[in-house]
Amino acid sequence: MSIAALIVAAGRGVRAGGGLPKQYAALGGEPMLARALRPFLAHPLIAAVQTVIGADDGPLYAAATAGSGAKLAPPVTGGASRQDSARLGLEALAARAPRLVLIHDAARPFVSQDLIGRVIEALERHPGAVPASPVADTLKRANPDGFIVATIERENLWRAETPQGFRFAAILDAHRRAAAEGLHAFTDDAALAERAGLTVALVAGSPRNVKITTAEDLAMANHLLAPSSAWETRTATGFDVHRFCPGDHVWLCGVSIPHSHGLLGHSDADAGLHALTDALLGAIGEGDIGDHFPPSDPRWKGAPSSLFLADAARRIAARGGRIVNVDVTLLCEAPKIAPHRAAMRAAMAEILAIEPSRVSVKATTTEGLGATGRREGLAALASATVLLPS
Ligand code: MG
Repeated sequence: MSIAALIVAAGRGVRAGGGLPKQYAALGGEPMLARALRPFLAHPLIAAVQTVIGADDGPLYAAATAGSGAKLAPPVTGGASRQDSARLGLEALAARAPRLVLIHDAARPFVSQDLIGRVIEALERHPGAVPASPVADTLKRANPDGFIVATIERENLWRAETPQGFRFAAILDAHRRAAAEGLHAFTDDAALAERAGLTVALVAGSPRNVKITTAEDLAMANHLLAPSSAWETRTATGFDVHRFCPGDHVWLCGVSIPHSHGLLGHSDADAGLHALTDALLGAIGEGDIGDHFPPSDPRWKGAPSSLFLADAARRIAARGGRIVNVDVTLLCEAPKIAPHRAAMRAAMAEILAIEPSRVSVKATTTEGLGATGRREGLAALASATVLLPS
């Protein structure tokens, strides 16, 4: 056997994973580890893949790797530090005596076959090869109180990624020697190779090859995957009409507007919010506003329609979905909508707990035609786009 991959997945970090070790957190609808393993399992030059896992993670690992095939060796249990876990994985591979090994962190699930290929190619010329990207940010050193004390020159500074590739015998020896000397805190394998005097070359990393550390990293990674696999887009419309009646104000899109008439209805008769509620319910296939808040039910007499809209938003959140954008068009000769448009957007954004930039309000007359043209009432159209987990 010539080239092996070692995937280090023994970390205990649960910050990103909602209580699960992050390498088992769902990424694009599957455990992060499954995604990290795939390019190594599929790479034609890699003959075996060894994993190192946490002592308690057997069931999670089994679920994440079911059906992976014979190229995936049975996992070994990691140690107290990343360095120890990597060494234990190398020891497990020693019997197979690969010529080269690529050591990869399971927390980098976006590694590509191209990047793996670049590391392997460089290993034909150098004892070690590490994918890396130039540091683009200005680096500051701060004191413990959070004040800057120095600016670090970023020329010749690189961010090291994984997989880091080495000649197997040399990196195993470097690991054994460090452990024998009581050193256990190296955070990457290149540092051990450097310490052993091995030449380590840089190859081009990838901005996609990010390390997932925090819950926010995980959310961003899921977002990155969203259009292709994990999410589906739902769009629907809503429509509502209410008749004018005696009164001195109307509720429209969550805002009270002084007017020569009121609007007749069982609730506050906010046609804008009713149309939008129906659009959101339509997007998730959960009927219409009348199904959930029947006009025959005295509880909803005079109720603020924000209740109905908030209920639709809750139903979307309960499915793990999110609202991409909503758009309401009001059809009336009067009142004038433009002066209230900003307040309407803000009110609906607050009810839906989304940014106002995702909320649109438009208005038009119907040129004196039809019921709205005769000022008998007003109408509202709405559309909503929602992302739901597939
Ligand atoms: Mg209505």
